Amino acid sequence: MEESFDIETELVRLGFDDQYNSCNPPLYQTATFRQDSLSNMGAYDYTRSGNPTRTTLQNYLGRIMGAKATFAVSSGMSALDVIVRLLDPGDEVIAGDDLYGGTHRLLTFLKNKKQLIVNHYDTTDTELMKQKITKNTRMIFLESPTNPLIKVVDVRSITAYAHEINPNCIVVFDNTMMSPVLMSPLADLGVDIQYESATKYLNGHHDIMSGVLATNSEKLAQDLYFVINSTGCGLAPFDCWLLLRGLKTLALRIERQQENAIKIAQFLITVPGLKVRSVALPDHPQYELHKSMAKGPGAVLSFETGSVETSSKIIEACKIWSITVSFGCVNSLISLPCQMSHASIDPDTRAERDLPEDLVRLCVGIENVNDLIKDLAAALRVGGISVPAQ
Ligand SMILES: *Cc1c(COP(=O)(O)O)cnc(C)c1O
Repeated sequence: MEESFDIETELVRLGFDDQYNSCNPPLYQTATFRQDSLSNMGAYDYTRSGNPTRTTLQNYLGRIMGAKATFAVSSGMSALDVIVRLLDPGDEVIAGDDLYGGTHRLLTFLKNKKQLIVNHYDTTDTELMKQKITKNTRMIFLESPTNPLIKVVDVRSITAYAHEINPNCIVVFDNTMMSPVLMSPLADLGVDIQYESATKYLNGHHDIMSGVLATNSEKLAQDLYFVINSTGCGLAPFDCWLLLRGLKTLALRIERQQENAIKIAQFLITVPGLKVRSVALPDHPQYELHKSMAKGPGAVLSFETGSVETSSKIIEACKIWSITVSFGCVNSLISLPCQMSHASIDPDTRAERDLPEDLVRLCVGIENVNDLIKDLAAALRVGGISVPAQ
C-alpha cells in the first residue's frame, strides 16, 4: 500500500498521474470519450458514469477521509438523496431532532409520501436512542455538533448499539460541521456512511455547490455508485477541479477559523445577558464528549439575546459579518437561522424542538479576529446590549 501522511500533508500533496507531470490536475471538460474500437470501451465513456477529473478528486478525498470509496456529487442534499434511495418503501429510519433544515425537509417529504417511516428523536439522549433503536431500524441519521443549537451526540455508543441490535442498520453521519480535519466518524467512530456538504468547509470559498460521500463497505459503495450513475448527480468536471483547488487549504483555513471562533466565544461570554452555545467553552454540557470524538470545536457558534428584535438589530448593524446563509467560507457570516437556513422547519416544530427564534448564528472566517470582535461589539451596542470595554 502507498505510504500515507497526516491529513495536513495529504491535503497539499494531491497525488495523481498525468502524462506531462502537470503540477495541477488536468480538467477534462468533456461529456464523452472516444473508444479505440467497438470492443474496447476504455476507462471512460460518458461523464455521468465517470470522468478523470472526478476520479482524481475522489481518490484524493479517499486519502483525506480515510475511506475505501468516496463519491463527489452535485450538492450535500444530493448526497443525502443518494443515500435515502438505498432504502425500500416502508423502511423505518431514525433521525435527529436538530438536523440541518434541508435534511429535515427531504426526510419529511418522503415520510409524507408514505415512502419511509421517519421518527425524530433527541439524539443527544443516548438512553432514549437505545430504547428507540429496534431490529426494524434500517437507517439512522446523525449530526454532531448540531447546528445551530450545537448539541453533541455520542456517535460511538449509538452506532455500536445499532449494529448490535441490527448488524444491517446503516448509520449515516453528516460531518459538514467538522470536516475531515477535525473529525473522522467513518474511520474512528464506526459509522457506515459519512457525507458532507462540500459547499461548506471542504471547498471553502462559496463558489460551487457540492457534496461528498464516503464508505468502507464494498456493497454500500456499489449501491451508492449505482444511484449516482443512474440519476446523474455526479459532480461536474469543472466543479471537481474547483473543489480540488479549494481543498488544498482546508487544514489552514480550519485552523485559523477555529482559532478566531474560540476567541469570539471567549469574548461573547463576557457580555452579560447573552446565552452562548459553543463546544469551545468548557461549560458546554457535552464538552468532554465532543473532545473525545473531534480534534477541535470548529468555527460555528450561536448565542441568544432574549428577543428577536434585538437579534435582528445586531445582525443588521454588522459591517464585516455578512448576513448570509450557509457556513464554511473564508469570510465571516452571521444569520438568524429561524428566518433563514431553518425556515423550512415549520414554526410549531421549531418551538417543539426548542429552537429559539432569537438565536444568532456566527460562522467565523479567517479575518483579523480583533476586527471581528470590534464589529460584533459595536453591533451588540446598537442592539442595546452593554458590552464591557475590551
Ligand atoms: C449545507 C448543509 C447540508 C446541505 O448541503 P448543500 O451543499 O447545501 O446541499 C447538509 N448538512 C449540513 C449540516 C449542512 O450545513
